[in-house]
Amino acid sequence: MNKKTVPFTEEQIRKIISQYPTPFHIYDEQAIRENVRKLIEAFSWAADFKEYFAVKATPNPYIMKVLKDEGVGSDCSSMAELILCEKVGITGHDIIFSSNDTPYEEYKKALELGAMINLDDITVIDYMEKHGPLPEWICVRYNPGPLLKSGNDIIGMPEEAKYGMTKEQIFEAYRICRSKGVKHFGLHTMVVSNELDPNGLINTAKMMFELAVEIKTELGILVEFIDFGGGIGVAYKPEQTPVDYTILSAGIKKYFEKLMIPNGMGDIRISFECGRVITGPFGYLVTTAIHHKNIWKQYIGTDASMANLMRPGMYGAYHHLTVMGKENAPADHVYDVTGSLCENCDKFAVDRNLPQIVDGDILVIHDAGAHGHSMGFNYNGKLRSAELLLHEDGTVTQIRRAETVNDLFATLDFSAL
Ligand SMILES: *Cc1c(COP(=O)(O)O)cnc(C)c1O
Repeated sequence: MNKKTVPFTEEQIRKIISQYPTPFHIYDEQAIRENVRKLIEAFSWAADFKEYFAVKATPNPYIMKVLKDEGVGSDCSSMAELILCEKVGITGHDIIFSSNDTPYEEYKKALELGAMINLDDITVIDYMEKHGPLPEWICVRYNPGPLLKSGNDIIGMPEEAKYGMTKEQIFEAYRICRSKGVKHFGLHTMVVSNELDPNGLINTAKMMFELAVEIKTELGILVEFIDFGGGIGVAYKPEQTPVDYTILSAGIKKYFEKLMIPNGMGDIRISFECGRVITGPFGYLVTTAIHHKNIWKQYIGTDASMANLMRPGMYGAYHHLTVMGKENAPADHVYDVTGSLCENCDKFAVDRNLPQIVDGDILVIHDAGAHGHSMGFNYNGKLRSAELLLHEDGTVTQIRRAETVNDLFATLDFSAL
């Protein structure tokens, strides 16, 4: 269970709205800090633990800066994400570049920043060498294939996923890299996504430790870096339970002590590259109810759309919704809460029991802090909203302004018409 609360009152949010009109995303800085501190603290037993924030979740430099303050690095997979790191001052092995299908310019940029390069495929060794020297550190991405019992609906079954290499290819990649002068080796995988069962994540760690031991036995190479990927889930539904980091950590520690320490790999860096759980629960999409209509169903029209939050429309994902000022009113109405796209899937809630909503009510859509603003698109000419950072003292900083139609048309030259 988790209680879905909002970090502001109706009065406070209306005051914020008087300065920054809806829709907008607002992130709770204090809650982001406290959560990531708990994650890092849970792994304090490890000689070297690093969380790399998956930038794609919330690619905002101010959020990245808050996380950097807390000792968090960045997981990148594109040029834009690397440039954001550069702007925020995140460099070296505080960046892991976990990309796939990557043009060389992006490897070049990652190398310039000193990032840890995570190879998605064995052919990338040749591809990189054609353009320049290999770095001293190489991490390789493992795809265990059908070994794993099941994936889930975002990443899919590992054997259906485009990422990573087979075990044979991992061994071969290590051999090739060693022969070409690579000095330090890492292992990476990501086989679960939005996982709320700590056992799924603990078993991922176990699988990786076992692979490291096999590599030591077969190749005599001591792996120095293991990355379990992202995938810690968000309890989007009130009846779900968030992952307890202490349970997760204790499960991983058990296998670390059993497999890594006796094999001389007790001082390596272990890491996660979580995005969703780092910011997801601490961001809110704030929107105003602007229309209501009764046909075969009852609809509440908002001033937001899939441009601001795609997950309900794209995945049918549940996002909790609070009607400000009516937190304790009976949920005795059933609504579809919609956005304005000409796509019937543009709904934030379907058949949702809610208090009676009237035009002008402020609706807060929960758990929109990851894959919310960042996934937004401009289909139908809809504009992405502003992002605000709510500080501990209740003040607010706008950390990205809302798009304007001029932004939308910036790539058009009307003068040539
Ligand atoms: C998306 C992604 C992540 C982050 O996943 P979350 O579900 O946000 O934790 C980490 N690593 C890679 C390679 C990814 O593609």
